[in-house]
Amino acid sequence: MGQLTLEKITKTFGTFEAVRSVSLDVKEGEFMVFVGPSGCGKSTLLRMIAGLENTSGGDIVIDGKRVNDLAPVKRGIAMVFQSYALYPHMSVYENIAFPLRVEGAPEAEIRRKVDEAARILHLETRMNQKPGNLSGGQRQRVAIGRAIVREPKIFLFDEPLSNLDAALRADMRIELTRLHKQLGSTMIYVTHDQVEAMTMADRIVVLNGGIIAQVGAPLELYHKPQNVFVAGFIGNP
Ligand code: ADP
Ligand code: MG
Repeated sequence: MGQLTLEKITKTFGTFEAVRSVSLDVKEGEFMVFVGPSGCGKSTLLRMIAGLENTSGGDIVIDGKRVNDLAPVKRGIAMVFQSYALYPHMSVYENIAFPLRVEGAPEAEIRRKVDEAARILHLETRMNQKPGNLSGGQRQRVAIGRAIVREPKIFLFDEPLSNLDAALRADMRIELTRLHKQLGSTMIYVTHDQVEAMTMADRIVVLNGGIIAQVGAPLELYHKPQNVFVAGFIGNP
């Protein structure tokens, strides 16, 4: 569960091709990192996988099923954004519970899942607080908790650590790697931070100008960059 295939995905905005015939296989349980310079199409690709943006062409296949026409909530995907997107007037508990309430889940199930997420993310003592009283790292944990309770097959992260300072980013890199091991879910993680890519990824996808410049394990990209762009961006020229 959580195998993703992209088949010749494109996205055009007017006459501009932001994503150009991208094909990719993401394995079940894989931690896949998308890197590349600003504007190369990382967020657009992620938003198409999530269903927040239509594709202009190509197929998105999850566990053997084409999902292009499925609503975001039906895809078994949860997305975490850089900006947290929490509800300021709700407690941490209610923020994490929110997607389950929308689904109309029973109270006992909500409590069980929210408590479990709180335990995984070390938020037990924060449950009655409002997001405004939390640090940036804690807020991002709440946003991750809200994704966890949905028990998605695939987690999508769009630069989740880029609002945090360097020390917190280092802590959260370790936390997210631990979370991936613990949950075993497929994770697709967008960043422009090479350290995050090199330390967290099973495989890295290097994007440039809407196309894939190279896909490979971190050390493979580092030691055997396929072209000058990859060498300059991540490799060891
Ligand atoms: P990244 O996340 O890699 O920085 P994006 O996926 O956000 O890049 O954007 C890729 C390209 O598509 C950029 O040139 C951006 O300006 C353009 N783009 C993204 N969204 C839109 C939109 N809604 N309308 C027009 N152009 C867009
Ligand atoms: Mg982006």
